[in-house]
Amino acid sequence: MSDFPTEHVLLTPGPTPIHPRAMQALTRPMLGHMDPEVFALNSDIQADLRVMYGTEPETFTALLAGTGSLGMEAGFANLVEPGDEVLVCANGSFGRRMAEMAARYGAKVRLVTAPLGEAIRPRDVAAQLTDDVRMVAVVHGETSTGVLNPVPEIAELVRSSGALFTVDAVTTAGMEPFHMRDWGVDYAYTGAQKCLSAPPGLAPIAVSERAFARFGARRTPTPLWYGDLGGLHDYWVGQTYHHTVPVNLHFALQAALRAALEEGLENRQRRVRQMGRVITRTLEPLGFTPYVHRPEERLPTVLALRLPEGFDDAGIRGQLRQRDISVTGGLGPTAGVIWRLGLMGESARPEPYRRLMTALGDLLG
Ligand code: PLP
Repeated sequence: MSDFPTEHVLLTPGPTPIHPRAMQALTRPMLGHMDPEVFALNSDIQADLRVMYGTEPETFTALLAGTGSLGMEAGFANLVEPGDEVLVCANGSFGRRMAEMAARYGAKVRLVTAPLGEAIRPRDVAAQLTDDVRMVAVVHGETSTGVLNPVPEIAELVRSSGALFTVDAVTTAGMEPFHMRDWGVDYAYTGAQKCLSAPPGLAPIAVSERAFARFGARRTPTPLWYGDLGGLHDYWVGQTYHHTVPVNLHFALQAALRAALEEGLENRQRRVRQMGRVITRTLEPLGFTPYVHRPEERLPTVLALRLPEGFDDAGIRGQLRQRDISVTGGLGPTAGVIWRLGLMGESARPEPYRRLMTALGDLLG
């Protein structure tokens, strides 16, 4: 018998409920990180990640043993050198985190911003994208506001500039269209606990050949030893020891990733959109309205809804939590203004949202 409650309705914008196949995979007997079976499993993961990111066999893919932020940090640590001009699109908390990290690794950061709840304008990127920019970085889905940034349009600008292109795919890869090869993305990362519904603790990354060449030409070693691309390559391709990877998390991620690809990336994109439409329609009569004004700028995987007038945000969320339902409010300036409903991976399912609607009906009725 389990010591834990059987069900919790987790509707946060990450982590998401763990996929049942990933949960089962976690109970597999432990193997060593240098075991041939683990190397075979790692190769399967690498191949499946290429499909998820929409890229080619030459692209290096791997898992970093840390959350999405480590994926973000490793990108700047490996691909930026002190004095590099880095253009960061920052229209929310995670864009600003990128800017801070780039600065800590010595970049001269140029910011492209947009008002809260609005997407980055490609023309603003174009205005700052001079020849000396070495990297452009953008968050595809800005979780803090529920905004989808126009990565394909920004990609077009970056492609003709010669700069590397880094994309935060934390709320998009595996659930939203992501075309690394066609867009010319050089470095992408996500977190296992988001669209894949695997346990937190792994950051799947993809690195283009061009980015590897930039890394290879560094004047100084990557200051982040743990995330050094050379060391990671030694383990993931050369099968030599770098650090003890969390094998059980690899088991779980492999199961979740395979389940996602079996469902089909396009089917998942349809599932999240359909869920979003139904939830928005159901909550509208209660006074919730979309926070992001322009429909094309709404991030399907994180539904940001403006709260009704006079709504007791903390009180209602507290009462929902007592009923084993977790819902997340706004972050910083949007605290008390919006809810951010997660529609990534296993949270984009009708049953947990039915539970939310029933509970809300009770509490507000
Ligand atoms: N980037 C985005 C867009 C995110 O939503 C998050 C987390 O929510 C992160 C980066 C950081 O990921 P983590 O919290 O897994 O370190």
